[in-house]
Amino acid sequence: MVRRMAIPRNKQGFGSRAIHAGQRPDPTTGAIMTPVYFSSTYVQEEPAKTKGYDYSRTVNPTRTALEQNIASLENARFGLCFSSGMGSINCVANLLECGDHVVACNDLYGGTYRLFTTLYEKLGVEFSFVDTTDKDAVVEAMRPKTRMLFVETPTNPLLRLTDISAMAEIAGAHRALLVVDNTFATPYLQNPIDHGADIVTHSATKYLGGHSDVVGGVLCVDDEELRDRLHHFQNSVGSTPGPMDCFLVLRGTKTLHVRMDRHCDNAERIVAWLSEHEKIEKIHYPGLPDHPQHELAKTQMRRFGGMVSVELAGGIEQGKQFASRTRLFSLAESLGGVESLIDHPVSMTHGSIPREERMKAGLNDGLIRLSVGIEDVDDLIADLDEALEQV
Ligand SMILES: *Cc1c(COP(=O)(O)O)cnc(C)c1O
Repeated sequence: MVRRMAIPRNKQGFGSRAIHAGQRPDPTTGAIMTPVYFSSTYVQEEPAKTKGYDYSRTVNPTRTALEQNIASLENARFGLCFSSGMGSINCVANLLECGDHVVACNDLYGGTYRLFTTLYEKLGVEFSFVDTTDKDAVVEAMRPKTRMLFVETPTNPLLRLTDISAMAEIAGAHRALLVVDNTFATPYLQNPIDHGADIVTHSATKYLGGHSDVVGGVLCVDDEELRDRLHHFQNSVGSTPGPMDCFLVLRGTKTLHVRMDRHCDNAERIVAWLSEHEKIEKIHYPGLPDHPQHELAKTQMRRFGGMVSVELAGGIEQGKQFASRTRLFSLAESLGGVESLIDHPVSMTHGSIPREERMKAGLNDGLIRLSVGIEDVDDLIADLDEALEQV
């Protein structure tokens, strides 16, 4: 059965795997691009004798190509695709049972926090939200019933880093699973499985898709038994993506390495320019020597990514003014597309967090998050310059 085959570890470079892993010319026509298999069912030669495909909720060839492709990029044996990033995280959370305890980082993606606190707490799962940049705090939060350690690195919007190897050690000592949300870094910049993570989760909606035209999620795992448990849930619940969505993400991953290098180049140039600007008080970027986890960033990540957060002198009004005055940077939530976006987290993506909690976490009123796209960097800088002048 195709879906039970382990993906062989591929020795090719990232770009070659991004373009070729999991894909072969269509056997009936030679079509070089993976066809979009809309078929819901597959003809069997005799009862229960299939070519590996029986019903498309369970397994679909376009989805298989994407799953193998991303697994290869994450240096994992298995991939599983979902209809959204939240769909993949929900699948992970479903490994938990009533009475289990989870330690999660305290500046989680809002949707993940909502899933945990409004749905899973009700089912009897307990959560502790801690600052996972502090290893001692994590050790202290672990309990005998802790079954999962869930981290994001870098985080949103403050771009703080958690040491994945250290977390793997702590999780391993407690026989808990380490789950890493790798959406911000992408497999091009960071491979959590290489640092000991058990499960990697992605919102494919962001950099993997890369063109702001598809919603999707992915899980990558190395352990076959764990893969089977996750697949059982995926198939039972039906949280699978359609074949067209898989095709779009697969088209995205083919250029991931090229896009990410340009995202990083542009972000580095913008950070250098902003550092000299009198209206900018603070810049959050893992590539800066004064970033609290810069040394870790140099070993855990290959480059520092396309997300940049800045603090303006002033408060909410100055932040809002800046965010509304850019023209090339569009004012919108989400991130990771080819086009540049600007976000004022306090009034947009992170508005639901009480002010006191926000301030404690270091998320100030004037904070602005940039998803630096791959336009010409001089145009992006000119746009920021013009907007800052009006603040
Ligand atoms: C967007 C996002 C998600 C959720 O993904 P969807 O595709 O929107 O469901 C999860 N984690 C992170 C870090 C994200 O940025």
